[in-house]
Amino acid sequence: TIIGTARETVPGERRVALTPETARKFIAAGASVRVEQGAGLSAGFTDEAYATAGAEVVDADAVLQSDVILCVQPPVPERLMQLRQGTVLVGLLSPQAEPARAAAIESRQLVAFPLERLPRTTRAQAMDVLSSQAGMAGYKAVLLAAGLAPRFFPMLTTAAGTIRPSRVLVVGAGVAGLQAIATAKRLGAQVEGFDVRPETREQIESLGGKFLDLGVSAAGEGGYARQLSDEERAEQQRRLAEHLKQVDVVVCTAAVPGRPAPRIISADMVAGMKPSSVVVDLAAETGGNCELTRPGETFESGGVTVAGPLNLASSGAVHASEMYARNLLNFTSLLLKDGALSLDWDDELLARTVWPERQPG
Ligand code: NAD
Repeated sequence: TIIGTARETVPGERRVALTPETARKFIAAGASVRVEQGAGLSAGFTDEAYATAGAEVVDADAVLQSDVILCVQPPVPERLMQLRQGTVLVGLLSPQAEPARAAAIESRQLVAFPLERLPRTTRAQAMDVLSSQAGMAGYKAVLLAAGLAPRFFPMLTTAAGTIRPSRVLVVGAGVAGLQAIATAKRLGAQVEGFDVRPETREQIESLGGKFLDLGVSAAGEGGYARQLSDEERAEQQRRLAEHLKQVDVVVCTAAVPGRPAPRIISADMVAGMKPSSVVVDLAAETGGNCELTRPGETFESGGVTVAGPLNLASSGAVHASEMYARNLLNFTSLLLKDGALSLDWDDELLARTVWPERQPG
C-alpha cells in the first residue's frame, strides 16, 4: 500500500498530515510512503528528514497515485477528480461543506474518512484530531489575547507600584477551553471558566481556575446538560452581563457539535465591558459566541478589541502537525493489515466515520 501526502493547498494552512516520525512507522508496518516536495516545510519538516525516514519525496502527481491520501484540509475538487477510483482519503474533509467536493468524492467513488465524524469513544481518543487541534487552538487563543491586551496578565510588584493581575474569563470548558484556562493560569492571570456541562466545574478547578456560577445549573439526567427554560436563560444572560463588566479578557470556546456556535455574548454585553478589554472568539469559525465577531478580523468596538481568529491550530504548525499526524497514523493503522489495505466494515470506527454513510453489511 502506498500512503501519500501532498502539500496543503488552502491559503495559510501550515500544518502537514504526515511527519517523518509517522512516515517511519508506516514503513515499519509494511507500507510505502510518498510525500510531495516541500509538504512539511512550513511545519518544520524538511524533505531530507522525510527521505531519511524512508519516504519517497516526489511531485504532486505522483502523490495523487497513492492508495491512501492523508491530508489536513480537503483537497480541491479538481484534485479529487484526478484520484483513482477507490482511493482512500483521511483528514478533516467536511464533505458536506462544499457541494463540488461531495460530488467529486461520490463520482470518483473515493473512500473518504472525514475525521470530524469519528465517534468520541475511549478507543478513538488517540485518533481524535478535533481534540489535538483544539488544544493548540486554546493555547494560541490565550497568547493572542495576551498580545492584544494593553496590560500584564500576572500580578507584578514593582518600584512603580503594584500591578493587579488580569481577569480572564473562558467561556466553554471543552478541550480548547481547558487548555485556554491552563495557559492563562500559567501566565499569571486570575482565571474563571464556565460551561453548561456541570462536570466541568471540577476540571476548571483542577487547573487552578474558578468556576463561574451563573446561578443556573443545566445538570440533567445521566450527566448530560438539559435545555434551559427562557427564564433561566434570561437570568444567566443578566448575570453574565454583570460579570463581564469586571473582566479584562474573554476567550470564547463554546461549541455544539455540527451546529452553529451558541450566541452567548450579545453586543450590549460588549458595550458594557471596560474599554481596554479584549474578546477572543475561537468559535468564529462556526459563527462566533459573540454577536459582534467577524470571522478572520480583529477590530475595536467602544474601546473593546474583538478578535475572531480562524485556524489558530495552523499557527502552532509544528506541534499541531506532530499530534495530527499521530492521530492519523493511529486511525490509518486500522485500515492496514500487514501493510496491505484491508477495510473491516465491522469495525464501528470505520463504519461510523466513512462518508457517504455505508449500509451495514
Ligand atoms: P466542543 O468543542 O464541541 O465544545 C466546547 C465546549 O463548549 C463544550 O465543553 C460544551 O459543553 C461547551 N458549550 C456548549 N454550549 C455552551 C454554552 N451555551 N455555554 C457554555 N458552554 C457551552 O467540545 P470538545 O472540546 O470537543 O469536547 C467536549 C467534551 O467531550 C470533552 O471535554 C470531553 O469530556 C469529551 N470528549 C471525549 C472524547 C473521547 O472520549 N474520545 C474526545 C474529546 C472530547
